[in-house]
Amino acid sequence: MAREKVASERGTKIPYARHWIDQEDIDAVTAVLRSNWITTGPAVRAFEEAISGYVGAGHGVAVSSGTAALHAATYAVGIHQGDEVIVPSMTFAATANAVVFQGGRPVFADVQADTLLIDPADVEAKITPKTKAIITVDYTGHPCDYDELKSIAERHDLKLIADSCHSLGAEYRGTRIGTLSDLTVFSFHPVKHITTGEGGMVVTDDPGLTRRMRIFRNHGITTEHRQRSESGTWYYEMVDLGYNYRITDFQCALGMSQLRRLPDLLARRREIASSYDEAFAGIPQISPLLVREEVSHAYHLYVVRVGDDGRGIGRDAVYRALRSKGIGANVHYVPVHLHPFYQERFGTKLGMCSVTEAAYEEILTLPLFPQMSASDVDYVITSLREVLA
Ligand SMILES: *Cc1c(COP(=O)(O)O)cnc(C)c1O
Repeated sequence: MAREKVASERGTKIPYARHWIDQEDIDAVTAVLRSNWITTGPAVRAFEEAISGYVGAGHGVAVSSGTAALHAATYAVGIHQGDEVIVPSMTFAATANAVVFQGGRPVFADVQADTLLIDPADVEAKITPKTKAIITVDYTGHPCDYDELKSIAERHDLKLIADSCHSLGAEYRGTRIGTLSDLTVFSFHPVKHITTGEGGMVVTDDPGLTRRMRIFRNHGITTEHRQRSESGTWYYEMVDLGYNYRITDFQCALGMSQLRRLPDLLARRREIASSYDEAFAGIPQISPLLVREEVSHAYHLYVVRVGDDGRGIGRDAVYRALRSKGIGANVHYVPVHLHPFYQERFGTKLGMCSVTEAAYEEILTLPLFPQMSASDVDYVITSLREVLA
């Protein structure tokens, strides 16, 4: 594929992330577009079975985005007005928004400084009688400490939801992400491991939660159009307030086709990450995040901390210098508790998650996507060296 063309289309030589669509993907989508069902059809169920099968979970519910999947999850576990849900602040806003959609209050937990993953000790410290659930985030693709988090959830009778939008294909103590919590959420946005354009899925072993989410994504109606069409009935019942969070069959056809390449995509991500690791071992100002021994990392993102060199060359200067060299460096994330919405609505403020806030000053996301060539990787490394020299 002509990667140079990709670069010029984007205006940035090397973006931080990019989807990869091949001819097989296009053929798979085209075939479904020519079929009888372009939404709520057989490709949706096939994709649900393929993803849940891949991660080893009993059921999958495909929806229109990762955000819709998070919302289905907070709905399914019964988050209501006044309920508290503990979430990390080092995440994309949607993780916390999914709590607010249900009228709940996100309570922000701090992260561990070495991995930037939710700190189980801070989770436990923030549990109150109103706490109903914990949402973990496998930040960058590194699984959280699920043994510890599961035991906290069990001790306090809380539901555990994994926002695993970064960690499709990651493993924790030899188990693939997808069965380590009550509900696990994936996103198929173009920057993620595999894409459906927009799309998401919740996987679970619980048939009751699955039923609730299937109804929720379809306006709160208990049967789908295809079921009614097949059984020849027009009657349906709306039993709860739901949304139209459905995903189309042609999106799911794309997802199925992409999933076939996932092992190769993951391998390439890991290969690029190890090239970065090796190069940065010799640069004292650049510290990659710690990777724990018990995990297999999915590398959605490659994040480093940029220390200050004492002459004012820190993260912001490095970010700007890389951008000027056509490298689409980025910062993931602005701590959620510092967004104006959360400050105004929930009274969150600076000082509430000090490890997250300190990390936010230093973190930098470097380009990482499977179609990056070896020379792209070298260019990023060389440019970073030059900027720091
Ligand atoms: C991408 C992402 C989401 C939202 O997914 P969309 O598919 O874009 O709605 C939620 N949480 C995290 C951590 C993400 O990275």
